[in-house]
Order: sequence, then structure tokens, then C-alpha cells
Amino acid sequence: MNGRMRAVAVILALAFLAAFSLEMRAGGQGSGGARSSGTMITGKVYTFEKIADGVYYTTSDSPMATGGNHTIIVGDRDVFLVDAGATPAAGRALLEDMKLITDKPVRWVVNTHFHWDHTNANSIFGPDVQIIGHEFVRHMLADGDIIHREPFKTSLANMPMQVDALKKQVADEKDPARRATLEKQLAAKQADWEEYKNIKPTPPTMTYSSKMTIYQGQREIQLLFLGRGHTQGDTIVYLPKERIVCTGDMMETQPAYMGDAVFDEWIVTLDKLKEMNFDTALPGHGVPFHDKSLITAYQSYLKDLMTQVAALRKQGVSADDAAKKVDLTSHKSDFSQIQGPGAEVRGVRRLYEWMDEHSR
Ligand SMILES: [Zn+2]
Repeated sequence: MNGRMRAVAVILALAFLAAFSLEMRAGGQGSGGARSSGTMITGKVYTFEKIADGVYYTTSDSPMATGGNHTIIVGDRDVFLVDAGATPAAGRALLEDMKLITDKPVRWVVNTHFHWDHTNANSIFGPDVQIIGHEFVRHMLADGDIIHREPFKTSLANMPMQVDALKKQVADEKDPARRATLEKQLAAKQADWEEYKNIKPTPPTMTYSSKMTIYQGQREIQLLFLGRGHTQGDTIVYLPKERIVCTGDMMETQPAYMGDAVFDEWIVTLDKLKEMNFDTALPGHGVPFHDKSLITAYQSYLKDLMTQVAALRKQGVSADDAAKKVDLTSHKSDFSQIQGPGAEVRGVRRLYEWMDEHSR
């Protein structure tokens, strides 16, 4: 790689890192998302927000935690965990930090869907822990070769660039304190990269197809398949008494990854989510939200994307060019992560594929 190409690569990597932070961290906050004033308990990697008695929501700014947010449901005897984490190291860090809120063991883990950032830490749990997922999650993790497909493929492929970009930042940083922080981030990223190369997909040990109810002492925990959408097997975790719903990536407070979407059904499934009786929604990425109008706003984002992409496709524009041309900035007031025109390319490629399947 010559000097100029290298400079371009570093700039691209930095841009990706910025986008990656937006995509993966809890920082993004649309108008419907709000930081509640619940008690916050801060561990080494994760911060726990108390949502209700025995119900905590995690966020993290640490480069260790490149996965989604977790909901932790503490019962009389054990813990029910929503999503496993992006790497075994992230999962272990979560278990370590969880000692700040409970000494009870994790007995249940639900994978809200098959994507790596929610399932890669499945492997750290022993035989005394049941990993539950929709039967589609089991199918994808057992037979889907998720290591060689999106969204993991790009995440793995981007790792060397991210490591290089951080190395350059470390080299350029003059301030010793900031340099030390960057060095820690670099070490975490390098460790992540090693783990990413050695990920062993671990499928759920227990599956369901439309509804499963777990009684954790007095607490009722429902696992619901409301329909296809974000993927073909997303689970919504519902606590009817607490009126809390964990939406996974079916509904985030930021635009979700769309590379496995079933677009028209997603909008219908979100209607079903809106019909549910809840006060607080805890998404797989982003922040807790309370207002169902955010779901309507996301439906309108999806519809707008579908309309614009259909028109571009009709004009003979390629999927990759369409991803640059679509303009969803009118949804910025609901999803502040939208910085300018364009949409995530893997989502638009999937939308083309979906439109081909439906020959529209
Ligand atoms: Zn996710």
C-alpha cells in the first residue's frame, strides 16, 4: 500500500470507527429515547440502569463491549439474561460486572436474534445454563455458517483497519493520559480481533416457535415471536407485570441493521409491538424509550426507504448507488444518528434482493 492509499485507508477506518460507535454504542438518542433517572451502577465495562425491581438495562462506552445492550432480570434464585454479548471476553466482562448487582447465577440466556453481536458469547455458558432462541436462531447458528456471511463478515474484515487506525491515533497522541486511554482501547480491539477470528457459533439449547413463558419465581417472562421483520426469528421479551418489553433489534432508538430484513412484514410486526401493553421498551441498541410514537416513526422510515429504493431500482440504479442516493434526512428529528443522505449498503442490497423475490 503506498503512502496516499494508506492515508485514505486510515481516514476511511476513522470514519468507520465513528459510524461503528454510533451503530453499536448507547450514545445515539432519538427524540423518543430518553435516559431515565433510574439508579446507575457502573462496572468496569458495563453500566447498569435499574429499570424496575430486579430489572436492569446495560449500556457501555467501552471498546470491549461492541455488542448490543442487555436486559438483566434478577429473580429469587437466578438470573435471566437478554442477549449474550459480542465476544466471549465481552460476555465474561458482563458476568464480572454483574456481581455489582447480584450474586445469583445466570440460568437463562435468550438470544433475541442470530446476529453475532447478540450470540457470540453463547460459548462461555456451561451446561447448567439454558440458551433460548427462536427456532430460526438455532437454524442459523447451527447451519447458517454465520462466520462467512453478513453482518459478521464485514465486522471481521474491518478489524485490521480499526486496529491500524487506533495504532495511528496512539502514535500521534502527545497527551500522556489520552495516549494511555487509546492504548487500552487498542489492546481491547486487538484482543477482540483475535477472538473474532476464533468464534465458534454456539446455537441455543432450547427453542420455541411462537411463544414461551418462563416463571422465574413470582415473575412471568414471556418470549414472543411477533412475526418476521428485522430477521426471520426475532424474540421480544415481555414482562407483563412490570409492563416492560425488550425489543432486541426489531426496534431500536436508532436505525437498525437491515441486511436480513423482511421489509413489509417488519412494518406489520411493529404494529403488533405497538399493540402490546408496555410503558418501557428496552432496545438491543440505543437507550430505553417509552413513547410508542417512536415505533410509528421507524415504520415511516422503513416505508420511506422502500419507496425511494423502489424508484431508484426502477431507474436501473445499482443497489450500492441507491444506498448513496436515498435521502432519509427527513427522519433525523426521530433518529438523530442520520447525519446525511444515504443508507447502510447491506440493508439496501437486501432490499433489492427482497424486491427481486417479490418481483416488484
Ligand atoms: Zn444488534
